Amino acid sequence: MKELVENSTDAGSTDIRIEILYGGKRLIKVSDNGEGMDKEDALLCFERYATSKLHNEEDLFRLSTMGFRGEALPSITSIAKVRLVTALKSTHQGVSIEIQGGEIKSVKDSPSVGTTVEVRDLFFNTPARRKFLKAHNTESFHVIDRVTEQALAHHEIGFSLVSDNREIMRIPVASSPRERIVQIYGEEFVGGLIDINRETADIKMNCFVAKESNLRSSKTYQFIFINKRPIRDPSLTHAIYNAYEGILPQKKHPVFFLFLTIDPGVVDVNVHPAKREVRFENKEPIYNFVLSGIKDALPRPLQPKTHDFPSTSVISEALELGYKTCVSFIPFGDAFIAVSEPGGLTLVDQHAAHERVLYERFLGGVDINPHPLLFPRQLQLSHKEYHVVLANSSILKDFGMELDDFGHNSIVVRSLPEVLRDADIRGILADIASCLIGGVAPDRELRETLAAKIACHRSVRGKTILKQEEVDQLLSDLQKCLHPESCPHGRPTRIFLSLEDLKKMFKRT
Ligand code: ADP
Ligand code: MG
Repeated sequence: MKELVENSTDAGSTDIRIEILYGGKRLIKVSDNGEGMDKEDALLCFERYATSKLHNEEDLFRLSTMGFRGEALPSITSIAKVRLVTALKSTHQGVSIEIQGGEIKSVKDSPSVGTTVEVRDLFFNTPARRKFLKAHNTESFHVIDRVTEQALAHHEIGFSLVSDNREIMRIPVASSPRERIVQIYGEEFVGGLIDINRETADIKMNCFVAKESNLRSSKTYQFIFINKRPIRDPSLTHAIYNAYEGILPQKKHPVFFLFLTIDPGVVDVNVHPAKREVRFENKEPIYNFVLSGIKDALPRPLQPKTHDFPSTSVISEALELGYKTCVSFIPFGDAFIAVSEPGGLTLVDQHAAHERVLYERFLGGVDINPHPLLFPRQLQLSHKEYHVVLANSSILKDFGMELDDFGHNSIVVRSLPEVLRDADIRGILADIASCLIGGVAPDRELRETLAAKIACHRSVRGKTILKQEEVDQLLSDLQKCLHPESCPHGRPTRIFLSLEDLKKMFKRT
């Protein structure tokens, strides 16, 4: 699918339509309105190493198209039943060619516009390889991911995706990368990004990165494009993380959409079989360019702020408290509190402690009572998130989140549990979606995993100094937990140093 779409983008198309059946196993069909081919080229394009993308020797070193190896079509036709219908732009003739397992079966005249390639019954002649295909759903999610990526890379092209006869993506032509990101993820999402533009003689960067208030707990929204090609590049990713140094809490990730335009003479896009990695003549200046561009745009340094601790609906029963209602404590760095106790000293990791408290409440059904929202919130999700979240709406309902389909990738949140009232719902749903797609650890139930995710989102983050009442509440709530000693991920919530321990440390015994 990716190779076919790349051919369509190379052909100067402005509209690309993708249709799949059974996650693409039964059918992958890509239609475009590009320049097309005449009959002679149409017959030639299935030959190995046949490409129209090299016009002279220099082109080999200055590639600006997505392909040029002439391998995709022959490889596809050797393992599937393929039909190509194409007509050279502005001619009325066209041709339809059927080819199966590499063998041409029929050639007919067929007037058409642009090019359509239909690939049926993937691996029909190599059943052993067919087994490696994943479940329909998984394959469809991969297709959505790849189309999303292509759509981000080519804002000037309109895309639509139909899966099992249902249109699940429709993205009209956009005027800028920003508009394209809005089309896919919504205005609200883009509101959380900073738009950075930089240019030197050899390199141009347009980059959208998360504001400091919009960091995520997964790497879902991280894209790098070089000359319109989606790539993975650990060192450029590192440059971006590096730009966030000092403002990125542990286990948090920035959102980024990095679009680089670099002289094709200095990047080699041909090293990787799936063309997902590139090699640079000299990486360092590009690394520094990205790092400094983003770093300069991010506000710093930041003052730790007081956290608006979520109001809890549970009234603490003072009698059961292991702590006095007004404990004396010292905030320690920006993540710990030290509490003095009769027999020694307890060090508390406030984030871990709060996570434990929320986690047990969610699992126990406390705080889950759905509160209908006076103004239901409409949220736009990515195509993939939208489908996963809706497919699992009944589990979410168990967590007090009631939502409805609003069409076009949007959902309406009708009720939320009290504790999530003013949380980042979009972020939580995105996180839940990625864990539903990724599957849960075998020793855990989905409910537990979701509870842990939600708890993690809602809990006190680092760089937060808690007020007296908040510390009192947190410690008393923690004391009431079934397993107060560790957070849902297994990290300790508190460490007790007895007077004895301290004496030993100071060699007083
Ligand atoms: P490559 O893209 O590396 O050239 P492919 O096997 O993917 O190799 O395609 C072979 C050739 O077929 C291309 O070079 C192009 O000339 C032609 N072709 C394939 N798809 C299309 C399309 N959608 N529109 C026009 N020409 C196409
Ligand atoms: Mg190609």
